Amino acid sequence: MYMSRGVFTAAPSGNADSVIDLRGGHVVPPFAEAHNHNIDASSPERAKAVVAMYMKDAVFYGQNPCNVLRARRGLAGYINVPTGIDVTFSNACVTGPGGHPVGLFLRNLGRGVMLATDTNSTEGFVWIIANENDLARKWPAILAGKPDFIKVLIQYSDEYEKRRSDTSAFDFRGIDPKLVPEIVRRAHAAGLRVMAHVETAADFRTALEAGADQIGHMPGFRGNEQTKLPVTEPFEISDADAQRAARQGAYVVTTLSAVTGLSPADSVMRRRADSLFIRNLRMLKKHGVRVIVGSDSYRNTAVPEAVYLASLGVYTNAELLRMWSDDTARGIFPDRKIGRLEPGYEASFLVLDRDPLADFANVKSIRMRVKQGDGDSRPHAVRALSSRG
Ligand SMILES: [Zn+2]
Repeated sequence: MYMSRGVFTAAPSGNADSVIDLRGGHVVPPFAEAHNHNIDASSPERAKAVVAMYMKDAVFYGQNPCNVLRARRGLAGYINVPTGIDVTFSNACVTGPGGHPVGLFLRNLGRGVMLATDTNSTEGFVWIIANENDLARKWPAILAGKPDFIKVLIQYSDEYEKRRSDTSAFDFRGIDPKLVPEIVRRAHAAGLRVMAHVETAADFRTALEAGADQIGHMPGFRGNEQTKLPVTEPFEISDADAQRAARQGAYVVTTLSAVTGLSPADSVMRRRADSLFIRNLRMLKKHGVRVIVGSDSYRNTAVPEAVYLASLGVYTNAELLRMWSDDTARGIFPDRKIGRLEPGYEASFLVLDRDPLADFANVKSIRMRVKQGDGDSRPHAVRALSSRG
């Protein structure tokens, strides 16, 4: 392989300027994280620590579906540069009155982490939208924050009318599902993709019917409102909905590994959750749906999520690697040539000491990380990558 000015190239006619000996390592594209809110920065120290954590795990691409703009600004200079990770942001997410994540906002307000002004402002964390007039009025301010995509909250959408004025359903409802198609229409008109949060199989269908580009979770990812899973039926994806997701080219983000923290591996809930997730992943795989890796884990990158997915046995190690590096990266940055080791693609890759096809955990045996040719922008310089040094 050869690279020049940050891009993989075909073999040059002359000699390469330098040779990087990969010493028989296993070369893969970098990893990606399609759903994480921890990529933000309240201070330069925090910004450096976040980027260092992602670089260490070789998760070069990230997507933050609900963030406050000031914490995003704190990352300037550390992200979306060749030496840092590349991240997209939705800015404040869009929900309905009393909808998720207003509960999270109130908790953070109580802890002094967020401000009273963090609702319904371009600088804020959450947009609360009650109806079409409200949407029309707030939409210009939503766009004013220059989001990379729009995140909308769909939650128990088939019970929306019942839940909208039920205080016990506070933070367990989303936006009025009737508004979602209009949000998608407006977003697409502005050149923005839409990620929908979902909880149930009905929400999954609502999101697809509205034309969402990404489904931010797999149904049942955290069980029911009590994070329990007494029955799995409300969370089971149907053949028809999986077919629809495939036909529309929607990406489905996993976010399944939280269950490993909710219940021990030998518990009834855990076994039920594992088998629900296996069932749904098989359903999506059967219909060729683009499943991508995201964790929604505040403490981590997507590494534990990918390792948990491997443990479910639905995908071969090769399939999972491709999902995690190629599909997930392109799900986040559809306009970039990333996630493949081919001429014309950005020269970003990892060298692993041990074979990830033999044991998926070997994705952690990272010996070398190269992003965009490691910033080598010398004109016409060609560097050869050799495993036979
Ligand atoms: Zn999330």
